[in-house]
Amino acid sequence: MSERPTTSQNKTKDENEAVAEGTDEDTTMDAIRKFFTQKLNLVTTLDEEDGANKKAFENLTFEGLCDHWKSKGFKNIITMVGAGISTSAGIPDFRSPGSGLYDNLQKYNLPHPSAIFEMDYFEENPQPFFALAKELYPGSFNPTPSHYFVRLLHEKGLLLRHYTQNIDTLERIAGIPDDKLVEAHGTFFTNHCLGCRKLYSMEWMKEQIFSDSVPTCEDCNSVVKPDIVFFGENLPEKFYTLPAKDFNKCDLLIIMGTSLEVQPFASLIDRAGPKCVRLLINRTKVGNDFGGIGAWFMMGPGLMFDNPKNTRDIAYIGDCDDGCLALAEALGWKDELSELIKREHQRLNKENADCKEKRAKEKSKTDDDEKESDETEEKPVDPKNKEKDAV
Ligand SMILES: [Zn+2]
Repeated sequence: MSERPTTSQNKTKDENEAVAEGTDEDTTMDAIRKFFTQKLNLVTTLDEEDGANKKAFENLTFEGLCDHWKSKGFKNIITMVGAGISTSAGIPDFRSPGSGLYDNLQKYNLPHPSAIFEMDYFEENPQPFFALAKELYPGSFNPTPSHYFVRLLHEKGLLLRHYTQNIDTLERIAGIPDDKLVEAHGTFFTNHCLGCRKLYSMEWMKEQIFSDSVPTCEDCNSVVKPDIVFFGENLPEKFYTLPAKDFNKCDLLIIMGTSLEVQPFASLIDRAGPKCVRLLINRTKVGNDFGGIGAWFMMGPGLMFDNPKNTRDIAYIGDCDDGCLALAEALGWKDELSELIKREHQRLNKENADCKEKRAKEKSKTDDDEKESDETEEKPVDPKNKEKDAV
């Protein structure tokens, strides 16, 4: 059992007694916490509102949650996700050693790995970012069962909002509509000129990236950047405007595939009201040890599934896809979800194949044109180069 460090050190007393009695330290910290709660308009799980101390349902386990969902239902579900929901699509997790993105950056000769996502560096030297973007370009990957589970929630009218840290656009590819999405760290879906702010489409950007050129604005010739949030940039406006409304309404928060280490995203978990059930689906237990001063300044006590005072937090430890499939099975949605995945993957695979074919045709046409112009200029042709061109 990993309990959050508390301010009360008296182990011989009953915990409730100790809390009721309190200490000067408790009082001071309570005052500080209340101050920040009010200033930042946060709802903390420690607030003693009506029913806040009552369990959401008797059996606080994954099975108990599924039973409660089947019998009582949820109406306003928020999903909150990180890289873990995309790893089974083949997209590397930034932070996993070995498979991580940062490990693949050596070839770009960066001053330090994170420079590739820093505005100052990008403005001087955008080429490494676009080379990496080509490697990781969304559209070469299919959404995962976890993405389609969220889409199913939407189709059933249960999805209030999907908050994602991912920039891979797999939510959009999975068919989750724009108004349901908060892409907290931005997206490749839209692109803007850094000079005049002209908007460019994903298709336009894709063509530029795959032709190995640094995309520049047709009007002012400045570099055009995908709307993913770089270090030193603000998060999208939706991230600041929607949570206050959403998290008050939310009755089930599903947190998937995130280490809950990146702020301010991680602190969203504490925006949920005291009665909102929170389900973590992740390979490891996270979000349950927000002790120390950080807890008081940034957020509430975190997820309480290992705490005897838990009233509504549940952890499913395993892969996101397995967790979603287990939920679907328990809710009687398994066939529907499998059908949806099968149908959508077939459609996307066909689209990708058509797109590759088109690109190959265009490339061979360009190569032919180049060869023709070489011949008309009557340059001496190096047979080695000619061979390379033809490949
Ligand atoms: Zn421009």
